Amino acid sequence: MIADQNQRTWMAVQRHLQANGLPSVVIPRGRGFPHPREAGARLTSTWPVGQIADYTFEGVPGEPVLAVREFADRWEAFVDVAPSVNLAAPAGEQTQAVATVLGAALLGGALGAAVSNRREGALIGAGIAVLLVAALHDTGETKNYAVKGTSPMPCFKGCLNRNVQRHPRRLLFTGRGLAGGPELKSATPVFGPADMVAEYREMVGLTNLRSAPALEFYDDLHGVGGIFSAADWTILVGVRDMDQIAGAVLGRWSAQVAAIYTQSYGSIPSAQTLPVYAREVATRRCIAHELGHALIYSGARNPYAPDDEAGADYWAGRLDAARGRSLELGEMFFWTIGCTSSSCDHPSPDVRAAAYRAGYESQLAGR
Ligand SMILES: [Zn+2]
Repeated sequence: MIADQNQRTWMAVQRHLQANGLPSVVIPRGRGFPHPREAGARLTSTWPVGQIADYTFEGVPGEPVLAVREFADRWEAFVDVAPSVNLAAPAGEQTQAVATVLGAALLGGALGAAVSNRREGALIGAGIAVLLVAALHDTGETKNYAVKGTSPMPCFKGCLNRNVQRHPRRLLFTGRGLAGGPELKSATPVFGPADMVAEYREMVGLTNLRSAPALEFYDDLHGVGGIFSAADWTILVGVRDMDQIAGAVLGRWSAQVAAIYTQSYGSIPSAQTLPVYAREVATRRCIAHELGHALIYSGARNPYAPDDEAGADYWAGRLDAARGRSLELGEMFFWTIGCTSSSCDHPSPDVRAAAYRAGYESQLAGR
């Protein structure tokens, strides 16, 4: 009964958000709001922004649901549409193992070397648990993606000859690992950040695509970064992958990125803010690149044909210029994801940054 009352309290928040068209609401803790756990919500994961945990209330698939981020001092509630592959941790699966997996995924947002190192450990243990859960609970059709040729990232972990299978609640990566041995990894869907989803819609609005590819976020695409799947018209983005790229960009250009941040926001970024900002910078470019693949697939001109990767970088440049995004940040991003290994299936740093810049300049010149 208490749980019912508690749930009604949160459902009233959802109605309030939807009725007023609000993106989110912040509720300070200590005001008697029930913990989502005590209100029938299930543990899930959303875009990491330093929260303790994420919860979502059961809803009809494809319909808007209420998600709540737990912070030490507040709740942040927002309404979103559940990813098409369904949320993690279905009812009855809220075991310690799943909680560990999701906790590990959420740590993706907690930055700093110490945390990253711990996270590595947590993910290794958690990966096994998630695979077991997948084996026990996945039903329905699976789809195979060949990763080769669709990713914007260099093969940090040996992505050649890797396959991605789409299961109802997660992706499974099978193939050959860096050392040549077989690997089996998984990715769990997470809620996308509302501002990134809004920006994606804006990007699509600049194109003449008849239908926008679905946009899905995952905790970790294991170095692939992003995927465009023409077969099911979907763009997939890995949160941890974006953190890795952001880390590489900051490793080389942190002063420059901080200066651009200061120009945009009028304040100097803190040690916590800068990586979060860099992740957003990376995510925008990754999405633009994958959308570039969708455009080329739909018949848009590719001046780099038959190299679709440089072509997608070119279109990312055009989209960035059209939206007034920073050319400098874009160049840093595309340079960073350029391939430098001996078995490249993506262009080199210089080629990628140049293709992006060419697109940017073409757009500004109205060509
Ligand atoms: Zn690509």
